[in-house]
Amino acid sequence: MTVKFIFRVIPIFVFYTDFLVWKGKAGASYGVFIVIRPQYRDDIKLLEHELIHCRVYIKTLSISGWLYMLSEKWRVRYEAEAYLKTLGTNNAVKKYVARKIHEGYNIKKLSYEDVEKIVYDYANKIETKKEVSF
Ligand SMILES: [Zn+2]
Repeated sequence: MTVKFIFRVIPIFVFYTDFLVWKGKAGASYGVFIVIRPQYRDDIKLLEHELIHCRVYIKTLSISGWLYMLSEKWRVRYEAEAYLKTLGTNNAVKKYVARKIHEGYNIKKLSYEDVEKIVYDYANKIETKKEVSF
């Protein structure tokens, strides 16, 4: 187990185990806890992906966790944020992320095109923010 910090002061407890990691996934986050399969211990991008989920969880005072379960749109947006912020926003990544989310996150009501639109819109937001911050 290791401890990481978000917002400098909030501890996130990272466990390297298969326990509580869904089938077909490499890691998961539950509030201030992250679980990562032992074979992905050195995957910095995966850890950063899960830490982004923890930041959103804390920022939204845990509401994000409930929305994740209740709303497909929210789930897509939530995963899009974590994937795009760790992998970048070029066209190949956007397509990869849209497909991965559509196929791997229990999306039943939204079409692939719906998921793609959410991913592309979110990528635009990230790119716009980057321009503003420079
Ligand atoms: Zn995720």
